[in-house]
Amino acid sequence: MKRRKKFNKVTFIVILVLLAGVIYYEYNILSSYSKSVQAVNTNSINTFAVANRSNSGEKNIENKFKKEKSDKVLQAAGVQDLGENPLNSYDAAQVYNIIQGNYKNDGHKIAFLTFDDGPSITVTPMVLNTLKHYGINATFFLIGKMVDESAQSKAVVRMIAADGNSIGNHSYTHEYQINMANSLFPGNKMDVARVMNEFDETNKAIGNALGRKFTTRIFRLPGGYVSRVYYKDPNLPQFNAAIKARGIYCIDWTVDDRDSEGRPLNSDQIFQNVKNGVGNNEKVVILMHDTYGKEQTAKALPQIIDYLKGQGYEFKTIV
Ligand SMILES: [Zn+2]
Repeated sequence: MKRRKKFNKVTFIVILVLLAGVIYYEYNILSSYSKSVQAVNTNSINTFAVANRSNSGEKNIENKFKKEKSDKVLQAAGVQDLGENPLNSYDAAQVYNIIQGNYKNDGHKIAFLTFDDGPSITVTPMVLNTLKHYGINATFFLIGKMVDESAQSKAVVRMIAADGNSIGNHSYTHEYQINMANSLFPGNKMDVARVMNEFDETNKAIGNALGRKFTTRIFRLPGGYVSRVYYKDPNLPQFNAAIKARGIYCIDWTVDDRDSEGRPLNSDQIFQNVKNGVGNNEKVVILMHDTYGKEQTAKALPQIIDYLKGQGYEFKTIV
């Protein structure tokens, strides 16, 4: 009888210990599960907060992320002159998508002012003064032979960079007339080797003017990539492969100020063309020209900027 009682006691203790063990084990599983659920929740909250730009604390995180990302992009592009605000710029890939219409509205109106066919020692400085006055930047697609033209034209290239503007490539000769002897598009077909060679020559010319190595990922084809598509250029696949291999993006535009078509326009007409082209679009890439004879474009620029600012647009560069 006594022995049996003792046995019962031992059994009871063993069961108690086993039970405690099971409870402890279950508790561990439960708590690690709840930790992982918490982690998932925190992640989605962060993602949401980063997406929600009204939260200023999270905006700092977002900005830091953007800055680190854009710093890398800038370094890769060899761009070192974007001043203290690399947040000023959008990645070439993003802008390429914007031009393709491949983006969703996010409540942020962004305008990319772009100037082609420079530098000129007459119009480009006027444009730079206006941009400086408004404290904004633009993207300049330079022609290599215009850069190489004189000591003054090289000085203008340095001014463009020193003010924090972005520099893109617009070929060396800009010879896009299909009937010209040394056309980039002889017989309306792209000479891919020639086009890529001119891209490199232009980068060299810009680097020479800046006094350092210069590379860029943004290329604006003379006449626009869109014209090669329009003409169903049979060499486009070869060209696409060449630029893709080097991480280059062809950057066209979504709004044309039409300052390079037919008869010269006055500044009011140029402004109206921009205004009409911008419409209600949230992201706009505006084509203008800062080469010789485009004083009316420079004159229209303050009006264009005032209008876009009034409509709530921010100004960004492309890198
Ligand atoms: Zn051009």
